[in-house]
Amino acid sequence: MTCLEAQSKIIAYIDYKIEKEDKQDFLQHIKHCKNCREELDIYYTMIEGMRQLDSNQPLSKDFSAELGERMERDLKKNRKKKDFFRSSVCVVVMAVLGFLLVGYVNFLHILHEEEQVKLKEAQGDYYFSTSLEPYLFELEENEFIRAINMDVTQEDPGFYKKVRQYRILKQNRGK
Ligand SMILES: [Zn+2]
Repeated sequence: MTCLEAQSKIIAYIDYKIEKEDKQDFLQHIKHCKNCREELDIYYTMIEGMRQLDSNQPLSKDFSAELGERMERDLKKNRKKKDFFRSSVCVVVMAVLGFLLVGYVNFLHILHEEEQVKLKEAQGDYYFSTSLEPYLFELEENEFIRAINMDVTQEDPGFYKKVRQYRILKQNRGK
């Protein structure tokens, strides 16, 4: 806000008629601009003095100090509003972060579980296929194994799949 703009709002401020969106700019300018502060002081003394005389009130002893207090109050009010706004933004941000974190941890947990299952199956595959396969798939079951292997065109089906298919085939034969 320029000095000209600030000075054009002095009377409105004194009369409590300044626009809400102008008030803080105005106060900040007055706070840091000696000339405009002086101007405000003069107008405030004149207008407030006249008002007090008109309404037969005792005249203020120190208009400047009174004005200073009023400005301080107005600045503080705004600070509180800003603080409140900041803290609500903070709460929202924290909530979103917390939500994302929980989601991420769950996601990691699921990944870990899947990993563990794969690992176990792989370990099982390796262990069982090297040590138990010869016993489980007996020689006379060769036809089944062939059937199973023919089923899978791409890669080795893995031990669990073989067992599953083996059991299905056995069940079917039992019927
Ligand atoms: Zn100024």
